[in-house]
Amino acid sequence: MIQYILQGHELQNDVQTMIQVFYPNLHYIRREEIAPSGMSVVSCMEKGIASAMLYRNGQKAGVWSVPFPLDIEEKEIKRLVKLAIYELLQKDTGLRPQWGLLTGVRPAKIVSGLLAEGKSEKYCLEYLMKDYLVLEQKARLALTVAKAEEKILQGNQSHDISLYIGIPFCPTRCLYCSFTAYPLAQYQNRVDEYLDALFKELAFLAEYAKGFSLKSIYIGGGTPTSLSEVQLERLLKKIAELFETREMEYTVEAGRPDTITKEKLRLMQAYGVNRISINPQTMNEETLKRIGRKHSVADIRRVFQEARALGHDNINMDLILGLPGETPWDVSHTMEEILALAPDNITVHTLAVKRASRLKEEFDQHTLSTAKALEEMLEITAAYAKKMGMKPYYMYRQKNMVGNFENVGYCHPGKEGVYNVQIMEEKQMVLAAGAGASTKIVDPLTDKIDRIFNVKSVEDYIARIDEMIQRKRAGLPKGGWK
Ligand code: SF4
Repeated sequence: MIQYILQGHELQNDVQTMIQVFYPNLHYIRREEIAPSGMSVVSCMEKGIASAMLYRNGQKAGVWSVPFPLDIEEKEIKRLVKLAIYELLQKDTGLRPQWGLLTGVRPAKIVSGLLAEGKSEKYCLEYLMKDYLVLEQKARLALTVAKAEEKILQGNQSHDISLYIGIPFCPTRCLYCSFTAYPLAQYQNRVDEYLDALFKELAFLAEYAKGFSLKSIYIGGGTPTSLSEVQLERLLKKIAELFETREMEYTVEAGRPDTITKEKLRLMQAYGVNRISINPQTMNEETLKRIGRKHSVADIRRVFQEARALGHDNINMDLILGLPGETPWDVSHTMEEILALAPDNITVHTLAVKRASRLKEEFDQHTLSTAKALEEMLEITAAYAKKMGMKPYYMYRQKNMVGNFENVGYCHPGKEGVYNVQIMEEKQMVLAAGAGASTKIVDPLTDKIDRIFNVKSVEDYIARIDEMIQRKRAGLPKGGWK
């Protein structure tokens, strides 16, 4: 547990996230006074001095401070609060976080904002490196991603929208999962009822979407291919009835190989799905067992080859670095296998220990990678992506990521997942249907974002579907943005 005290400001979130970068996966508690036992961090902004102090068992163990002029803006106050903690804890731990002071913010979004203001690339790099202490290699990654995203976003029209459809079922729950994912064994007999409710919501959204131009559809989850062949066809057929799906990116996150059959691959192809994900996470048998997957490496290879043979020419593969027990050697092995399969995109995640996951509960039973090992793993995947002719095109970061690194999407030119970029950059309205799905309303004139949430539980979603529709009827802007 780490305790922290704020003096002269109320930037609790900034203080906590900065501490988390150096001391991840602990409990963080705000207190009014320095505790007599354990570790306490005091963050102070008073009398023109920004400072941070470290106490161990009530005894001062370190201090860092810097003077500041009294007329500075809120953004600069935040930066100084974080800088003081960063310098203090860097001295204490010897760690050098690669993203510097950046927490809870998408680095590419900062760069896009600066480029939009007319700032040069050189300015953007220096801003990240000097003001936010980001390492050069990461600053360059943020710039590359921002430029790739800009290419996609510059085509956005104010009436463009995307559609997300959530299928919240999975065969088993993965160790690290925090998503809305219900085990099929228990929920098998509710799936058809779920689809009935979903179709009702989709019918409402299809009517509403007539005032807009639908640019992409993304079916995610859970694992959408955990639906039976008959159920998957029901879903794809309903979407084809309700929406015009030609000339757009149409993705199904097929996900786990143990749920994918030749017939499902054929159905997706027949209904115009033009981008799928087959997600191994790792190509190491032992790790697959450890994380609760019920498929083998051979299954991944087989499903991938079947998809290719059926004509799927835009396949993404998700990978996770830092899975329990894995070393850089394991990652190299995974990447050799991926290289041989030659997908069109890869999305490289670094493990995040989420509050709602089994991993969080069983935290003490697993050995997680060190920041050093993760750094090496990220370098390995970046080198393989380059070898495969791919470039980074989107990136995001999450709280509680081991080592405070990043998730990066790489692809061959022209195979960018457009929906991914729209979601990350929040420049487009996303209508969302299904349990746990949240509709995002983005006003293209002001960039103001509002959300309309659906209930998470499958039972509640089925029982309260009319209320979910009513929430949208009341909350969605009338008549579009034209
Ligand atoms: S496949 Fe994805 S959604 Fe399903 S349990 Fe695993 S992590 Fe969760």
